Amino acid sequence: MVKLGEVYRKLTNDDFIILEFFVKNLKKFEYIPIDFLVQKLTKYTPKEIDARLRKLNSIKVIERHPTMNAYRLKALGLDCVALRRLVRKGILKAIGDIIGVGKESDIYRALTDNDELVVVKFYRIGRTSFRHAVKVRSYGVEFERGTWLVRSIIAGKREREALAILNKYNVPSVPRLHGGALHAVVMEYVEGPELYEVRELQRPLEVLNNIIEAIRASYWRAKLVHGDLSEYNILIDLSRGEERPFIIDWPQYVTSVEPNAQKLLERDVQYIIKFFNKRFDLRIDVNEVLKYVLTPME
Ligand code: ADP
Ligand code: MN
Repeated sequence: MVKLGEVYRKLTNDDFIILEFFVKNLKKFEYIPIDFLVQKLTKYTPKEIDARLRKLNSIKVIERHPTMNAYRLKALGLDCVALRRLVRKGILKAIGDIIGVGKESDIYRALTDNDELVVVKFYRIGRTSFRHAVKVRSYGVEFERGTWLVRSIIAGKREREALAILNKYNVPSVPRLHGGALHAVVMEYVEGPELYEVRELQRPLEVLNNIIEAIRASYWRAKLVHGDLSEYNILIDLSRGEERPFIIDWPQYVTSVEPNAQKLLERDVQYIIKFFNKRFDLRIDVNEVLKYVLTPME
């Protein structure tokens, strides 16, 4: 397993100029021909460019086309560029270990300039195909036409947009966004397992209530529907003897005015109620909760 922090530290300013050039041209080419690099990056001699590309290839941030004289950026290279931008923006000062490999992301622990513990979620769209195919619909044409890296950038941007709106309207039980770049989302670190791993809760009703309040506030105040709510996208913070839920993984959100919004909201609520009833032996009536969630607030 390559360590992101270690690879990052091997990169110089000139390396980043080349990597940024790859990022700038992501929508234009998948593989950039060496001739094009030589023609555009006039501050370097062809020999220098060739040497740099070899180095970047050897540390696996770019890779060479099997037959053509061209290179493409790899996910690791995109991570490094995003990381560098986050450091330059004064959002992060250090990247730590990988703490999670999701269906469509790699999650790292990191430290902000103010020494707060956060996570960086780097999108890896294309790693799985099934859920991805379900999600594609709401992402638009640009997404469908793009390479995996372009798609990852779009997903990152969408999740940051959702978190920013949710934070702005003080929707509870959502991680705080610290910023981001490209396909990276920097957010509050939640200390605790995913809900599906939790076998027992001291106060299951209270946890469920908090989730329902979050869904309702999200719909009426932030005007967003999560659209993929499940026991895998809820974390339970168990630190300090608490049981605080956090709803994560928002890129597929839809706004409340979209025609399918209410259907998705109902699906999210039904799914969660069903899970709580089964796992914690409750008898909550889905229709009553739905009525409550659909009652307008301020
Ligand atoms: P994916 O699209 O890959 O499912 P998620 O946002 O669901 O992405 O994150 C994947 C996993 O990473 C989560 O199940 C969780 O274990 C971890 N994770 C995500 N966000 C956080 C966070 N803010 N704090 C702590 N762990 C997180
Ligand atoms: Mn998820």
